[in-house]
Amino acid sequence: MAEIEEVSFSGTSKSDKNLLFNRGSLLNNSTMYTCSPRRAAFTVAAIICCLFAVSVIAAFARPACSMPPSPNHTSVDADHKLPSTNISQPTNTATTDKISNVKGSQFRWNKIRLPTTLVPHSYGVLIHPDMEKFDFSGWSSVEVVVKSSTDYIVMHVKQLNISDIGLRYRNRDDRIEMKKYLISVEREQLYIELTSNLIAGSTILINVSFHGVLSDNMNGFFLNFYITRGGVKRYLAATQFEPTEARSAFPCFDEPHMKAHFKFNIIRPKDYISLFNTEKVAEKMISENETMDIFNTTLKMSTYLVAFVVCDYLSKSQLSKSGVNISVYAPPEAINDVNVALDKATKILDFYEDFYGIKYPLKKLDNVAIPDMSVGAMENWGPVLYISKYLLLNESRNSEHDKNMVVVVVAHELAHQWFGNLVTMEWWNDLWLNEGFAKYIEYVGTNHIFPDWPMMEIFTCQTMAVAMVADSSDASHSISDPVYDPNEINEIFDSISYDKGASVIRMLENVVGPDVFYRALKNYLTKHQFDTANNNDLWESFTQQLKDTMHINVKEMMDTWTLQMGFPVVSMSRNGRQVTCRQERYVITDQSKLAGVQVEPSRFNYLWFIPLTFVTDRHPNNHSMYFMKEKTLRFELPEDVNWLKANSNMTGFYRVHYDDNGWSDIIRQLKSDHTHRPHEPDDGARPLVVPGEGGELQPLEDDDGEHQDDGLQDVMKKLMTPILKKLGWEDVGDHDTKLIRIELMSLATRLGFQEYVDWVMRSFKQMVNGSLRLSPNQQSIVFRYAVKYGGAEEWDFVMNSAMSSNTSQAQKAVMLDALTFSNDVLRVTRLLEMSLNQTLMKTNECLGTLTGVGKHSAGQLVLWNFIKKNWSLINDRIHGMPKRSRAIVRFASFLFSTEVEYDELQTFLNEHMSKETARLNIELLDAVRMNINWKAKSEDQLVQWLLKQTSH
Ligand SMILES: [Zn+2]
Repeated sequence: MAEIEEVSFSGTSKSDKNLLFNRGSLLNNSTMYTCSPRRAAFTVAAIICCLFAVSVIAAFARPACSMPPSPNHTSVDADHKLPSTNISQPTNTATTDKISNVKGSQFRWNKIRLPTTLVPHSYGVLIHPDMEKFDFSGWSSVEVVVKSSTDYIVMHVKQLNISDIGLRYRNRDDRIEMKKYLISVEREQLYIELTSNLIAGSTILINVSFHGVLSDNMNGFFLNFYITRGGVKRYLAATQFEPTEARSAFPCFDEPHMKAHFKFNIIRPKDYISLFNTEKVAEKMISENETMDIFNTTLKMSTYLVAFVVCDYLSKSQLSKSGVNISVYAPPEAINDVNVALDKATKILDFYEDFYGIKYPLKKLDNVAIPDMSVGAMENWGPVLYISKYLLLNESRNSEHDKNMVVVVVAHELAHQWFGNLVTMEWWNDLWLNEGFAKYIEYVGTNHIFPDWPMMEIFTCQTMAVAMVADSSDASHSISDPVYDPNEINEIFDSISYDKGASVIRMLENVVGPDVFYRALKNYLTKHQFDTANNNDLWESFTQQLKDTMHINVKEMMDTWTLQMGFPVVSMSRNGRQVTCRQERYVITDQSKLAGVQVEPSRFNYLWFIPLTFVTDRHPNNHSMYFMKEKTLRFELPEDVNWLKANSNMTGFYRVHYDDNGWSDIIRQLKSDHTHRPHEPDDGARPLVVPGEGGELQPLEDDDGEHQDDGLQDVMKKLMTPILKKLGWEDVGDHDTKLIRIELMSLATRLGFQEYVDWVMRSFKQMVNGSLRLSPNQQSIVFRYAVKYGGAEEWDFVMNSAMSSNTSQAQKAVMLDALTFSNDVLRVTRLLEMSLNQTLMKTNECLGTLTGVGKHSAGQLVLWNFIKKNWSLINDRIHGMPKRSRAIVRFASFLFSTEVEYDELQTFLNEHMSKETARLNIELLDAVRMNINWKAKSEDQLVQWLLKQTSH
């Protein structure tokens, strides 16, 4: 699953995090914003960090594995007699007169997990959505093996009305009599009590008729719509089951390890199509207006990967090298926007089949554009669903950033077809086995398709640095984290599972080398295909591969990274050739001022098994490695060196802190040759400063007084002009050149370089009167800054364009993003109000707008005041999903840096955020505490340094 993108690829970035400045009352609004010298100084800090980030350009090539063997398919022979049309008729032998539906009554089974007495083998399901009444009815027949004798059945059901239950043995004449059935709304379980015990070793059929409503919260079986250019609203129905929503579409054993085969029939309006995990094998007209599609039986798979769509889409298809039929589905008017995704999906599938060494086991792979989803995309096995803007692309209208997103998201979802779909985590605590791998492989896959994109370099900035920020608070959690109920399960779809998971996988690859890495993965996938696995299964595969070459206990090493939260900082000191290293946990908050969280004890006592790598000036390309298991490690270098840099290539998930001499050595090297920079990733300011004695932050360069004194803007101009000149104005060159040009032109305009502001305003006018046609890349800059520096005319034009039915979803996202750049409080407030109107913005657009406004130091306070006044409306609009509400609060508060602001946030969270999210509330508070601490410790130093550059 891919999350909805919350952070813009270009323009304002995470470095805004470092715009810490004093503000007056949080409660007062002004109509325009001004920039104080101090705030300007912090802006420069952020800008330098931007430059630092965009300056990293390189690409790596990845080796591919050998050709894959064919997997063994298990064919289903279920005895499901699906009713052809009328699903309201009883279809079983049960005694229905004894049915009672006593919601809330006590079960004999009182656990959130299902009992292991019954194991599902296969499902036959008929689904019949009514696209006018927006509900659905269904009938399911589950074939279940009785592992041990029991007189009750427990399965999952959520928000379904059960109208009939029938039970019988598959191959026996014995009757199964039901005493009663109960539904627990709280535990989302259906409990069926029997009059006698089921026979161990037998197979039974559980037949259930049910009815549900197409949900409007984009979970389970949900309703969606799009508007045609003619203004007509067209409805569709689609599914989002991960992690625990299959149970709201049909009664099932909804745990990932309870894999089974699924055979579906779907009734649809005759002018619609339906899609399922497998290909359609037949269709049958059942009335003048409706047709039933009959689908092939699936391979053995988890319930959360089942998916179906009923829509009026068109598609384009092509065959992969191995004969898989790959399609992209879109609304008829957008059918010409599917070509890029179709081409890239095909190439990525071809590559993954080589890379994994295992053929994609299905006959088809559908990629379906959904107007609105609760996630960015979902990897269902066979029909992958994407929010439209992550799938549909028009090269003449969309920017490089849009193209980047489409390819990365497709690469992520297709990576899951192996990691997640073929081999599934045993339980949700090991979600990282799905998401960590998909996150890492999305870089590998995209890098293969576009070797000139610097994907593997970007990893440290976009994934590893993000994980380190999330993992440096005591409110973090281990990668493999115990979870039980749906709320807890939903919470671990976070940066730790995705970004830290991907980072430790990358670290392991660097330790064992690519050959062993890919062989171990291939063996792991082959051994556990169509089944589930856990952490230990993965480490075992690596240990097997390494047994003849490297004496390292992979499980011992990796457990310290996956079974405890946090990561270490390694302090290094060198005395001649003698090097001493000491590890301790890196925590960004002052634990004495934490918001009440008890620091979780660790079974490893917060020590890590660190693969400590380093290079020296004598051999800058020769990476040495020591394994550091204890608190302290001492070793001797074989020769005298001028400098030593640890965590070479930034593949280790740890920070390094040198003693003063060590930092001085590196600073000297940086001044003479920047190619050996200390790649410390961070959330912005750290590249600018280095720790000094006692952990104080000191400016990196401050001792030679060589800086220019032409004023703040002039310093930046001096830094940027040579690069801007070299890049030129025209939107030409390769992908990286274009992206860097966009970043720098955007930065120059944001800083108010007159030449660029003039260009923006001139281009905007010419674009509006039709005398200039800008490239999509340039358009995004012009829209943003015309809104920022312009007035009502510019605002109205962009707003009207965004709301036009002729604007594609991706274009609308660009326009809405541009509107968040406004400095005008009234306009930004209007934009926020519009975001709550669901006829104007889809839920993901509303979320993008709210968080987008929060990304700008100008809009952040407007957003904070807005959410305080409208929290209940906002919560309704985002369907009360805690993850989304936290994202909004995070963006509204991430520049908070005073005790007053801290108290205000705490009051808000106590008042509005539920208990289930207590840990994440602490994370929000800790982020503010970190800002307060950082400001107290380093603000004056940094401001003095920045002002010194401008005062000569
Ligand atoms: Zn994913």
